[in-house]
Amino acid sequence: MIQLNKYLDNLRGVIKEVDVNTAFQKQLQGAILLDIREKDEVNSGSPTNAIRISKGMLEMNIVNEIPNSDTEIYLLCASGRRSLVSAFALQELGYQHIYSVKGGFGDWKNQGLPFEIPKTLKPEDLERYKRHLLIPEVGEKGQLKLLNSKALIVGAGGIGSPVAWYLAAAGVGTIGIIDDDIVDRTNLQRQILHTENSVGTYKVDSAKERLEALNPAIKIIPIKERLNADNIDSLLSDYDVVLDGTDNFTTRYLINDACVKLKIPNVHGSVFRFEGQVTTFYPASEQENAPCYRCVYPTPPPPELAPSCAEAGVLGVLPGMVGIMCATEAIKILAGFGTLMIGKILCFNALSWSFDIYDIDQKTDCPYCGCKDHEHYPSYSNYVASCSL
Ligand SMILES: [Zn+2]
Repeated sequence: MIQLNKYLDNLRGVIKEVDVNTAFQKQLQGAILLDIREKDEVNSGSPTNAIRISKGMLEMNIVNEIPNSDTEIYLLCASGRRSLVSAFALQELGYQHIYSVKGGFGDWKNQGLPFEIPKTLKPEDLERYKRHLLIPEVGEKGQLKLLNSKALIVGAGGIGSPVAWYLAAAGVGTIGIIDDDIVDRTNLQRQILHTENSVGTYKVDSAKERLEALNPAIKIIPIKERLNADNIDSLLSDYDVVLDGTDNFTTRYLINDACVKLKIPNVHGSVFRFEGQVTTFYPASEQENAPCYRCVYPTPPPPELAPSCAEAGVLGVLPGMVGIMCATEAIKILAGFGTLMIGKILCFNALSWSFDIYDIDQKTDCPYCGCKDHEHYPSYSNYVASCSL
C-alpha cells in the first residue's frame, strides 16, 4: 500500500522544519532560501532574493549553484511537502545544514513576507539561446545576466571582430564598439566583421550592420571616436567589461588606467605574427594580488620595439584565435561562471603549437592599481602628453 503521509512523517524525523518567519530571518542573516517549485509556479511570484532551481533539476544543478556543503539552506515549495522530500535528497547528497520551510510559499505570502516576480526569458530567447540554457553553468540565470550586461569593444579590427560576433551571438544585451577608422582592403584578411562592400565605410557602421543581422534583439552602439584622456571616463563608465583589441600602446595604457580607476575588468588580447596573448586585468576583483597592465609593463616600449600589424605582419587567423578567447573570458565574467584569466596570462605560438599560462603578480608599488586614494589617482593627460607613440 502506498502511504505518502507516513513517508512524509518519517522524513520529518530526519529533516528539521522551520516556519516561514524563521526562514526569512535566516535568509536576512546570510542563509540561502532555495525555491524548488516549477517554473510556472515561480513565474507568478517567489521570495525576494531566493535561489530558484526546480525540483526536477535540483540534484543536478545545485552542485554548481551552491558548491559548499556547509552552506545553510532553507528549501521552500508551495506547501512544505515537496521541500521535505528534496531536503532529504540534498542531505543524502552531502549537504549538512538543510531545512524544509513549513507551509511553503502559501504561508510566505500569507505572512506578508517579501516576494518578487522573477525576470524570465522571452519565448524567442528560449529558442535562440537553447544550447546555453542546457549548460548548468549558464542556464536561464546566466543568459539573463548576459542579456542585461554591457560590453565595450575598443577596436573593430582583427581581435574586435570575432569578439563582437560571439558576444552578439551569445546575447550580450548592449555592445558598444569604438573605432574611428575606415575599412581598408588590407583589413579583410583578418577583420571578419567587414566585407568587400564595406571598403571605404566606417568600421563601426559595417560592424553594426553585420551584428544586427545576426542578432536584431540586442543593442549595438557604434562610437566613431578615438579614445583620449578627455573622453575615456564618460565612454567607459557605463560598461560591465571592456575588451581591448587595440594595436597601439597609447590606447592600451589609457584603457588600463581608466579601467583601474573605474573598477572595470579589462580583457586584453594582443597578437604578433604567429603569437598571441590573452589575460584579464582586474585589480578591483575579489582575487588577491590581481595586477593591472602597468604592473606587467610599467612603461611603453620604444616605438622600434613595438611594431603594429601594419609594420610586422600577422597571420590572419591569429587575431581570430585571440578574439575568441577574449570573448570566452568576457562571457564568463558577465554570466559569472568559471575561473578567469586574472593574475595569469596565456601565451601561445601557432607556428609551434605551444600554449603556456604564466602567473603575473600585482606590483605593490604600482602607482595605478596600488593607488588607494581616489583624489590622487595619476592623471591620464600627463601620460598621453609624454607619450610619443
Ligand atoms: Zn598595477
